[in-house]
Amino acid sequence: MNSPVMQVLVSGKEIDATVNRLAKEITRDFQDKNPVILGALKGSFMFMADLVRQLHFPLEIDFVRCSSYESGRHTTSKVKLAPGLDPDIRGRQVLVVEDIVDTGITLAFLKAYLEKKKPASLKLCALADKPSRRVAPLALDYTGLTVPDKFVVGYGMDFNEKYRNLPDIYFLED
Ligand code: 5GP
Repeated sequence: MNSPVMQVLVSGKEIDATVNRLAKEITRDFQDKNPVILGALKGSFMFMADLVRQLHFPLEIDFVRCSSYESGRHTTSKVKLAPGLDPDIRGRQVLVVEDIVDTGITLAFLKAYLEKKKPASLKLCALADKPSRRVAPLALDYTGLTVPDKFVVGYGMDFNEKYRNLPDIYFLED
């Protein structure tokens, strides 16, 4: 099988600037709230690591894992939560950190699930957003980059579990 053709969409430098900006916004809103920063695995792992290193105030870190893309580039509207990662967020100020929002189905599902646990507040942060693909109505509180309707990889995001380690964001050509 040939390797897919990849083009840089967002450089590591631009990602750094975006993470710095988001960290400032999040600091302004959360610095006195001892929040739970809740990363959505696996795609957010690199963004989470960079983001929380820019948050210089007391916070806790936890993770959940949803899957909506069974494999490859095609989404399914079925979202599952992986067992074993079920954070206790009752009464807490929670910030969900996601890699990319596409149809919005995954984050809408996660938000509804987490709201049932009665957090004091629940905010949503995504590094990248593809608003043109939205199916589920969803308002992000913190958005890093708006990206075109292309399948992207790198900086935590995969194609069939590959490319998560790349420091830039690429799009895969059809
Ligand atoms: P949604 O439910 O919003 O359609 O999709 C959300 C999830 O699908 C993201 O958390 C991410 O894991 C995956 N996803 C959506 N768009 C892309 C993309 O362009 N590239 C990669 N690698 N994953 C994506």
